[in-house]
Amino acid sequence: MKEVTEPEIIKNYTIIGQGLAGSILAYFLLKEGQNVQIFDNSEIPSSSKVAAGIYNPVTGKRLVKTWLADEIFPFLEDFYPQLEKELNAKFFFSMPLFHPFPDVATQKFFRSDHIPDDFFDFCSLEFENNHRIEIVNSDLGGITMKHAGWVDLKVMLSAFRTFFLERNVLIETTSIPENTNVITIFCEGYHGKFNPHFRYLPFNPVKGEIVDIEIQNLDLQEIINQGVFVIPLGDNTFRLGATYKWDVLDFIPTNEGADILTEKYYKLMKPQMRVLSQQAGVRPATKDRRPFLGMHPEIENLGIFNGFGSKGVSLAPFFGNQFADFLIHKKELHPEVNINRFASLYLRR
Ligand SMILES: Cc1cc2nc3c(=O)[nH]c(=O)nc-3n(C[C@H](O)[C@H](O)[C@H](O)COP(=O)(O)OP(=O)(O)OC[C@H]3O[C@@H](n4cnc5c(N)ncnc54)[C@H](O)[C@@H]3O)c2cc1C
Repeated sequence: MKEVTEPEIIKNYTIIGQGLAGSILAYFLLKEGQNVQIFDNSEIPSSSKVAAGIYNPVTGKRLVKTWLADEIFPFLEDFYPQLEKELNAKFFFSMPLFHPFPDVATQKFFRSDHIPDDFFDFCSLEFENNHRIEIVNSDLGGITMKHAGWVDLKVMLSAFRTFFLERNVLIETTSIPENTNVITIFCEGYHGKFNPHFRYLPFNPVKGEIVDIEIQNLDLQEIINQGVFVIPLGDNTFRLGATYKWDVLDFIPTNEGADILTEKYYKLMKPQMRVLSQQAGVRPATKDRRPFLGMHPEIENLGIFNGFGSKGVSLAPFFGNQFADFLIHKKELHPEVNINRFASLYLRR
């Protein structure tokens, strides 16, 4: 992470939204000695306050390393522990993530010798279920992801809020300034889809629900994930999630969501559980599954930092740092995140 340096040029930035994205971007700009003012409207719901916060370098049905994993994971493993020290709060929980093989065909695939060597930088393999016999409904073994864990985003955002308020950086308000000459970066999460300046961007938001559950006498030191994830929170409490729904986009928990999660839980896990609470949110996902970073094609003081989908925890630190470098030092943005990839959509809007 960056040391505070003497800034070459100090600019004024307005950040709209104090979710995961806005907080991290504001933090990197402040670290570079820039003037920052954040406006957050708590009447607009935030996904970060609902998110499970998992980071995991190997995902998808084919269990492959995620995009840019070799750069993004070392960065976040450095970033969050240092941030904990600076914000004086505990929210980063590094822990292995066990992914049981879903079927014999997958187990067979991973037994074969065409698995690339660098796969083992991130994972280890087991082909039986000796020490989870009382826990998981499968005896095929599975993959343990090493550079995984979860971030308690509620705790982190609350610590960020205190940090920003102490520095007079955060304004909590329902009225956002319009037409200022200051560089304004919109970090509005799902709400960005309705921003008149950026709604030409291809958002693909996804509703998600999670439940907190109680399981008596289960000493789990890892996340288990197959169809659903189970995160140990301590004191017999666990977080179970998540659902994916594209048609109804609201922040309202449903019976259907709880039923889907309960059914998937008992498919994966043996111990009895009891639901304690439930939450819903909308992930700010994008059609090409890459974030939206960059400046408006015509209005040069407006920018966006959004589109982190279901991977905000892993992507926001790396790209927050990159975006701050772009804004202050004019360094290049990664072409796959730069919104200039949608210039033709802007012209056709
Ligand atoms: C059920 C569920 C589970 C998830 N699990 C994970 C997970 O395990 N791992 C992971 O990495 N990600 C997960 N996510 C995704 C994660 O929530 C997002 O990637 C991330 O939180 C997005 O952060 P954000 O700051 O872009 O948006 P938000 O968190 O939505 O923040 C936007 C902020 O801007 C404010 N705002 C919006 N518009 C305005 C405006 N016009 N004026 C003022 N303020 C405004 C809002 O009040 C809010 O504070 C999950 C999401 C859901 C719903």
